[in-house]
Amino acid sequence: MGSGSGIGIDKDRCIGAGQCALTAPEVFTQDDDGLSTLLPGREEGGSPLVREAARACPVGAITVPED
Ligand code: SF4
Repeated sequence: MGSGSGIGIDKDRCIGAGQCALTAPEVFTQDDDGLSTLLPGREEGGSPLVREAARACPVGAITVPED
């Protein structure tokens, strides 16, 4: 998966703060390393909570496609 049109998570930046998973639990979860990852089928966004999660991320690791 590349960085095409969907939601992006920069795992090099992510510090596992978990704010995204708390803010938009239908979209983000944390993997075994505690880093943010997208739930299957949620890569395209479509939820206003995704934007909230991007804002909530303390390191700006989440990018949301403009539409
Ligand atoms: S809020 Fe940001 S730093 Fe925290 S888990 Fe999500 S992507 Fe990673």
